[in-house]
Amino acid sequence: MKKKICLIYCGGTIGMVRKSDGLLAPADDAAQLISLAPGIEKLAEFDFKFVADIDSTNMHPGIWKTLAQTIRENYDNCDGFVIAHGTDTMAYTASALSFALRNLNKPVIITGAQKSIFDIASDAPNNLINAAKVALLDVPEVCVVFGSKILRGNRTQKISEKKLNAFWSPVVLPLGCVALEPEIVVDRVWRWRSKELEFKPDFDREVVFYQLFPGLDGKYIEAAIDRGCKGVILNAYGAGNVPNGEASLLPVIKKAVEHNVPVIVSTQCVEGSTRMIYEVGHCALAAGAIPAFDMTSEAAATKLMWILAQTNDLACIKEMMRTNLCGEITTM
Ligand code: ASP
Repeated sequence: MKKKICLIYCGGTIGMVRKSDGLLAPADDAAQLISLAPGIEKLAEFDFKFVADIDSTNMHPGIWKTLAQTIRENYDNCDGFVIAHGTDTMAYTASALSFALRNLNKPVIITGAQKSIFDIASDAPNNLINAAKVALLDVPEVCVVFGSKILRGNRTQKISEKKLNAFWSPVVLPLGCVALEPEIVVDRVWRWRSKELEFKPDFDREVVFYQLFPGLDGKYIEAAIDRGCKGVILNAYGAGNVPNGEASLLPVIKKAVEHNVPVIVSTQCVEGSTRMIYEVGHCALAAGAIPAFDMTSEAAATKLMWILAQTNDLACIKEMMRTNLCGEITTM
């Protein structure tokens, strides 16, 4: 009997058409995707689910929730899931779903394309077919399959808006690659202790993210705290370094902590970890900041949003942020 894949459509270039003004915009008939990837129907039976038809620039947590719900509703009757998604926010969705759907026992594979499936020389048919092939393997996690790469979803970042290998996973090795066929390095696949799906699809949007630059004025961060934001991410320098001199951000970290608002420190170094080994990092830690270690900024932001939807207890948030929940942290 043929295996069954649930193909969830969420928009993106993969299914866009060029309109009369020359701009790419969502097509009307997304279900055509399957017929435009020749041979894909030989791999499995496909159950098509429409979730959204957006440029993924317009992604938001409400759609993450619908995606997670669609997967849960079809969990028992499908062998694997493929999500067709825009590339711009794919790394965020991959991270978000990895938290929303823990203890997976089937693959959830996200893919997209740099060129629409309606264009000549599109990468869409290959990406879709390879995603479907990986969705039939024993890879029980949220992955991005794109170009020749098979990557852990919550470690990915989009690095090119034109190359066919648009994604990378800067800190951890790919789970595999697409050669003649997709090849998985079995030891790199995440294995859960429990196989009971843990479904927590909510995310809190009351979060702000600041990329540090020399001179960033803490008063703007303070204003966000005064307006009721529930979590702050400071994408800091190097090993988690935060200014403590003339343009010190320590007062704002202290103020946030006093208001029970977590301040997460991530790093702008894509291959870095917030080890806080410098005095400047250590001071932030002493003021109450929480290190994101080597999480991508996409994973750090979605993880904080996900945790805040569950608790506002600072100690609990700290503990959860520091815990490797689904492969999003490697080095502390
Ligand atoms: N703007 C598009 C999107 O993210 C880009 C793409 O899909 O490649 O939806």
